[in-house]
Amino acid sequence: MRDQDIVGAYLSRLHAEISANRDGEVATYIPELGRVDPDKFGICAVTIDGQVYCTGDWDSEVSIQSVSKPFMYGAALSEHGRERVLEHVGVEPTGEMFNAIVLDEATNRPFNPMVNAGAIATSELMTLDDRSDSTARMLDIMSRFAGRDLDIDTSVFRSEHDTGHRNRAIAYMMLNTAMIRRAPEDVLDLYFKQCAVLVNCRDLAVMAATLAAHGRNPMTGDRVIAPDNVRDVLSVMASCGMYDYAGQWGFDVGLPAKSGVSGLIGAVVPGQLGLAVFSPRLDAVGNSVRGMEVCRRFAEDFGLHSFSERTDLRSVIRREYRSGEIQSRNVRDGREIDIIRRDATEFAVLDLQGPLFFGAMERVARRVGALVSKGVREIALDFRRVALVDTGGLALFVRLVDALGGTGVTLHLAEVRYRDSLSGLVDLVTDDADGVLKIVDDVDGALADYENRVIAKAGLTQETQKLALSDHAVFEGLDAGEIAQLQSIAGTLSFAPGEVMLKAGDDAKAFLTVARGTASVTVPLGPERARRVASIGPGQAIGEMALLDGGKRSANIVADGPVLAYIFSVESIRALSDDSPRIMEKILGNMVLSLTHRLRRTNDELSAME
Ligand code: GLN
Repeated sequence: MRDQDIVGAYLSRLHAEISANRDGEVATYIPELGRVDPDKFGICAVTIDGQVYCTGDWDSEVSIQSVSKPFMYGAALSEHGRERVLEHVGVEPTGEMFNAIVLDEATNRPFNPMVNAGAIATSELMTLDDRSDSTARMLDIMSRFAGRDLDIDTSVFRSEHDTGHRNRAIAYMMLNTAMIRRAPEDVLDLYFKQCAVLVNCRDLAVMAATLAAHGRNPMTGDRVIAPDNVRDVLSVMASCGMYDYAGQWGFDVGLPAKSGVSGLIGAVVPGQLGLAVFSPRLDAVGNSVRGMEVCRRFAEDFGLHSFSERTDLRSVIRREYRSGEIQSRNVRDGREIDIIRRDATEFAVLDLQGPLFFGAMERVARRVGALVSKGVREIALDFRRVALVDTGGLALFVRLVDALGGTGVTLHLAEVRYRDSLSGLVDLVTDDADGVLKIVDDVDGALADYENRVIAKAGLTQETQKLALSDHAVFEGLDAGEIAQLQSIAGTLSFAPGEVMLKAGDDAKAFLTVARGTASVTVPLGPERARRVASIGPGQAIGEMALLDGGKRSANIVADGPVLAYIFSVESIRALSDDSPRIMEKILGNMVLSLTHRLRRTNDELSAME
């Protein structure tokens, strides 16, 4: 790979291509804004996990202007709650210029917080009795969004303060209708100052990324505002953020964004990243010409439009099978297998994948319903390949669990333990009065348990006799004399349920064969976690690889219930073979045979997954 920073390289190329565009004019109605270098051009993207991609004049500082509006709106929502804020400013796009002197005739409210009238009403909500307190709080909020201490460009503030009579007119008009009650000059002081906060593209991208991350600053981890407030902010950004161009913007780019007359645009890809562009030349509406082009191209190239196709729901159920078709890894004899094939028909497995939001969960719920109506009584849902269940998916799942209450149907939730993003599912068990849900480690365990119940119901009790040595697979083909020799060196061990029979990492100096009971092979995944990879039953050997390499144990073996086992030390088997080489030959031959079977089985499983 030539350049490993693929997003950075993409943005640099985009920057180079769009640099050629010199259309538009720098805003001069605030005199100080006219002094900027019109060719400045910076881009920065910040992901919700804090990766920063910057290019061009990303570190040029400029006054934030109207891009301050969504952040102050978020702060007002957080401070006063949605209801109170809505009394002072609506959420309706105006289709008018940003500085239009219009209010909603019925309510006297400014139309929305992204135009000046609404932003001034928002500023009033954030004005304190003392001007310097208001300023300090505003700077603190902006700084928390940006993840560093921001400051005010006093010459821009002065310039706008001395010339911003149109905004003064708006404020006085709102005073006239009692929409604002504080002294307009106090409110305007805060408004002009918030517009004069200095940011570079990186700051703005972090601010946008904080919105993308539902209010948590990805660089500092600071929770600046609550997710509900962010949702409201993004909604008005989407409908009103780009002045009277908002409709076309939503159509073309489809991302919540806000622009300002200094040439900044901040755009949000919720759940993914924040994007900031700075280029001072503006179109007739007041939006940065290059800034719009960058957002349009970025959204287009990566399908970021809110309504673009993103997921393929067809694949949410990766695989589906019934218990008769695929059996657990538990070792069974012929009679048991016959019973399972005949009777084990009421258990199904759904192997799920992808994020489970409403649309995906609806498919799962529908499939569960169809299986239940075909007589399936137990369904194991395998969440191993599910990265998350969102609140919508969870809400629907709760309804499914409710609907199954009293039907006697059980849902086994597999691979949900220790998974932070799936903890919502685990929590449901507490409220599951009807006992529909059962948390299981893995599908195989649930399947094995079901098979055991089916076998027991058919009247066949599990083998209680201890298996003779001659019946063990590794000793197959040995004659009575050889078995007797083995018997003389065999020890017996009994294990309590849950007891560790072999431990990963230990020296492999002996091997066991199971005479009664079953054991699970588990590989440790962490201090508390383990994955069960196989089950071992009567007649099977454990740790027999010790005969070959004498290395370390590769897995843990844990007794499922009471287990009785024979133990053979490698040393004694070797000594025995010195006199009777046929014993070792047979054992090794049997091991190869069993390895071949395991390999075949793995191959079959792999092809079944295709
Ligand atoms: N301070 C500017 C004003 O009120 C902000 C306008 C803007 O960026 N659209 O005129």
